[in-house]
Amino acid sequence: MTAAPPLLAPLSAVQVGPLTFGSRHIPLLAGPCSVETPTQMALAAKAARAAGAAFLRGGAFKPRTRPEAFQGLGVEGLDLLVTAARAEHLPVVTELTDIRHLDAFLAHGVDLIQVGSRNMANYDLLKELGRIDTPILLKRGLAATLQEWTGAAEYVLRGGNTRVILCERGVRSFEPAYRNMLDVTAIGVMKESTGLPVVVDPSHAGGRAALVPALARAAIAAGADGLLVEMHPFPEQAWCDADQALTPAGLESLMASLRPIARALGRDL
Ligand code: PEP
Ligand code: MN
Repeated sequence: MTAAPPLLAPLSAVQVGPLTFGSRHIPLLAGPCSVETPTQMALAAKAARAAGAAFLRGGAFKPRTRPEAFQGLGVEGLDLLVTAARAEHLPVVTELTDIRHLDAFLAHGVDLIQVGSRNMANYDLLKELGRIDTPILLKRGLAATLQEWTGAAEYVLRGGNTRVILCERGVRSFEPAYRNMLDVTAIGVMKESTGLPVVVDPSHAGGRAALVPALARAAIAAGADGLLVEMHPFPEQAWCDADQALTPAGLESLMASLRPIARALGRDL
């Protein structure tokens, strides 16, 4: 058996369109948890762009804990997401939950495919995503060790898709007072050991909008290469994850508070 080729170059940056993850610039990926209506998405896209976001996020296929919960609009949601984003000249990031939806993702020109926490260890899905050339945002599993997360990334990389961006979103802990425990230590460890850029999602970590700004600031201070933040034009009306969505104004003020931290580290966002 021949030795496996090295997968990871030291500190490799990942190019997605004109953006480079793992460079001086720290992209913001913002938008609602789920795609709901054309108006909601148009307002979200405008607000994301106004706050300086580089990507519009929005889930069309939602992996929900309960089967009776809203499961996402499916392909119709992809249409709404892409239409709203393109009107504001933004690329999109959205979650793929099932390989049978991949053709629709490619047909819609999804710029960055998110693998959610619940699918981090779906190895058949990861193998298939290794065969395409769309970049992958690989979230950390609900309770995955860094070794398990690295293994998941290697499934994609080994297939030949070298554009993998990691996303720390907090892990399940013994503490019920917040949704997940943001592992800021993982940011530096994973950047060092894999060379891949690490984006942080403070929204699914905190689970409450009031906690998101401090977690986002901690993430930037700890070396995050991007932020994935949930924002809804009317958070109290959100169909999914209403408690953790920032308002458009909240996202703008968050960005203003992050810029001096990034600057102090020789970076910008
Ligand atoms: C999401 O980004 O909407 C999501 C479901 O996140 P996670 O996979 O981290 O729970
Ligand atoms: Mn969510």
